[in-house]
Amino acid sequence: MTGRVGMGFDVHSFSDDDGRRLVLGGVVLEGERGLAGHSDADVIAHAVADALLGAAGLGDLGEHFPDTDPQWAGADSMGLLREVVAMTGAAGWAVANVDASVVLEAPKLAPHREAIVASLTSAVGAPVSVKAKRAEGLGALGRGEGIACWAVALLEQ
Ligand SMILES: [Zn+2]
Repeated sequence: MTGRVGMGFDVHSFSDDDGRRLVLGGVVLEGERGLAGHSDADVIAHAVADALLGAAGLGDLGEHFPDTDPQWAGADSMGLLREVVAMTGAAGWAVANVDASVVLEAPKLAPHREAIVASLTSAVGAPVSVKAKRAEGLGALGRGEGIACWAVALLEQ
């Protein structure tokens, strides 16, 4: 058995556009301010996808789905994540697990965590854990200007 790890990072600032929805791990957090971005700005899905691509040695998300390409404007990032999982499978890898840490001041993730984990686990086809941390007032994340996510993925062959 061969294993490979990959890590992914993503960050998006909150948007001033009231029309944008907050989407985390494919779950829409109703009534919350959305994140700015070319796609749906699903910061967790992006970090997880980059972790998987990194582990498989397949580059990064921006390379495969460039944000300069109108094709991906407003894209459903869970669809992109499913494509990335298929790419790692085609390269001969199976996902063992994924672990993600989300850094945000607000909103509270706890009420949504179960739904987010279920959504990500379904897309990835392996256990996904999601943890939330606050930045303790430090820097832009501490001022609540956006949301960041770090993810680690283990692939097996
Ligand atoms: Zn992103």
